[in-house]
Amino acid sequence: MYSREKQLTIRHDIFRWLDQKLDRGQYEYTREELSSYEYDGIRLPLLDRGRGIRNPATFSATLSIMTSLKSPYNDVLDTSTFVKYDYRSNGSSDNLKLKAALFGQDPLIYFEALRRGVYAAHYPVYVVADDPTAEVFTIAMDEALRFFGDPATMSVDQRRYAERTVKARLHQPAFRAKVMHAYSDACAICSLRHLELLDAAHIIADHEATGFASVTNGLALCKIHHAAYDRNLLGISPDYRVHIDNDLLDEVDGPMLRHGLQDMHGRALNLPHRKSELPSADALAIRFEQFAA
Ligand SMILES: [Zn+2]
Repeated sequence: MYSREKQLTIRHDIFRWLDQKLDRGQYEYTREELSSYEYDGIRLPLLDRGRGIRNPATFSATLSIMTSLKSPYNDVLDTSTFVKYDYRSNGSSDNLKLKAALFGQDPLIYFEALRRGVYAAHYPVYVVADDPTAEVFTIAMDEALRFFGDPATMSVDQRRYAERTVKARLHQPAFRAKVMHAYSDACAICSLRHLELLDAAHIIADHEATGFASVTNGLALCKIHHAAYDRNLLGISPDYRVHIDNDLLDEVDGPMLRHGLQDMHGRALNLPHRKSELPSADALAIRFEQFAA
């Protein structure tokens, strides 16, 4: 068994390893890639084949969990703010290591399955409650949330605060992954294919009441088109056409303005192949009103 200090050092090294991929624009991970992580030349798979939990023999507390998102608190909190994680039915040592993660407040990784063998990574997440009667753990999906402890004992104000502070950040890994996949890793306006230069943009901002982290409220946009869209220099009508602001169309400047923006006027959006992933015409209409105004 590694010392607690070494375990924490490795956890943080794993977060850096994932951060570096994120910085290069990567948004999802295959099982093979997650099994290739090494620390000090020793391979340490981040998930366990065929199991929903990863408890390395060298770790006293759980390293990662992997399951579909479901929350027992969805009447009060956003469905994925806290995630319910059932006791392992035939894994008492697994349950002990989850309890150890609760007592030690060790940061873990939550792998959310996107497709078969492909995952989004949420980290760090924390075990914040253990209900031995219901045989269920509660996982806080955001670092800020763990300071509130068990959501069952939160006041109404604390719950509201928790919901508000984490909502926008929470969905990011899965939202980005789903949007990029739907748009085949290309800007919906100019077709640029460079993950480092692509964002998953919200049609309706996530922090607004009507904003939601569904792929139908998203668009894959390059940095310049994302910024232009957010500032209403560029609009997208519900019939999936690109519109450039009138004043901007009259300006005379260099190639970025001319080719990057003015030439996009009137273009049809590159759309996802699957109908269920098409951008919501209602959401586009609401945003297009703001642009037209
Ligand atoms: Zn673009």
